Amino acid sequence: MTDIRHITYEELEDFLLSVNEKKFRAKQIWTWLWQKGVGSFDEMTNVSLSLRTQMAEHFTFRRAEIAQEAHSKDKTAKFAFRYEDGKMVEGVLIPSGERVTACVSSQVGCPLRCSFCATGTMGFIRNLHYSEIVDEFVLMNRRAQELYGNGITNIVFMGMGEPLLNFDNVMTAIDKITAKDGFGLSPTRITLSTAGVIRGIKKLADRNFPCGLAVSLHSAEPAVREVIMPVTEHNSLHDLQAALLYYHQKTGQRITFEYLLLSKVNDTRQAAEKLARYCRPFPVKINIIEYNETEDGIYHRSYPNQREEFINYLKNCNMVVNVRQSKGQDIAAACGQLVKQGQEATK
Ligand code: SAH
Repeated sequence: MTDIRHITYEELEDFLLSVNEKKFRAKQIWTWLWQKGVGSFDEMTNVSLSLRTQMAEHFTFRRAEIAQEAHSKDKTAKFAFRYEDGKMVEGVLIPSGERVTACVSSQVGCPLRCSFCATGTMGFIRNLHYSEIVDEFVLMNRRAQELYGNGITNIVFMGMGEPLLNFDNVMTAIDKITAKDGFGLSPTRITLSTAGVIRGIKKLADRNFPCGLAVSLHSAEPAVREVIMPVTEHNSLHDLQAALLYYHQKTGQRITFEYLLLSKVNDTRQAAEKLARYCRPFPVKINIIEYNETEDGIYHRSYPNQREEFINYLKNCNMVVNVRQSKGQDIAAACGQLVKQGQEATK
């Protein structure tokens, strides 16, 4: 059976006609699905019981569930979502002032195998369907209201997976979340983060992507980046730079670079110089991220003085630099850590 959230509006109308219902009911049902975010037919209270029963006979309604939830001292909350097939991904809520940022996953596991990332060690399991990505949003939005008295205000695609390798589902999920007659979040409050998948960046440019784009750069030195991010092999730094210039020219947007400081790997003076040079062709903002050390990690976060020097060098080059404090360290909030712990616990 097809899932009710996998059909188009027209298909829903056709179904309604086939069971002798009025076409306009599609709008009511659509609102329950894509604006109110219900999790079952029974919650569609203005739909007759007989129609709800007929829908349940024709369609499944596969809604994710929160399998695990952890709270940090800093109010960050981390969730493990379980889907119908038992597969899990994670999401994080990060409250800060009036803002509540949700970090969502786009794939179960990830094929890119960045050497510092917990998700990378799991390998790729499958893509998330757009309805499964929307589930993360809907479930966390509800919890955000309960926990912080405020729904989600911002979304970052920085959970598990590479969003540009699940392009269509991520785009449809964003459409659903931003639709005026849907959840209505402004696209400017969404940031998609990529490890640097060039084909996807060009596709975003060509469709005039209305959200923010962040690139996990982590090194502007080919030899270093190839080791820590194997995606570099087929998406060279040189070609990535050209794609980002194209993106900037098409959209007028500045690029955000994420840069994880790993001690003695990418935090030297030379690394800072390379980074500054790499950023010259387009306006950028650099987010310096503190490394969340993973258990079996071979990497360590940079020493404070090294970090300061690195940041000061960039600032002296008049670059926009943001320093992101690591959140939720006590709950293993870095990409892939919670699900991986869960897997290890059940081994
Ligand atoms: N695949 C996408 C999105 C998921 S990763 C991307 O690469 O951007 C989201 C961010 O978390 C990336 O910048 C990634 O490099 C970073 N990250 C991964 N493991 C981390 C860790 N242990 N500590 C801090 N950041 C980490």
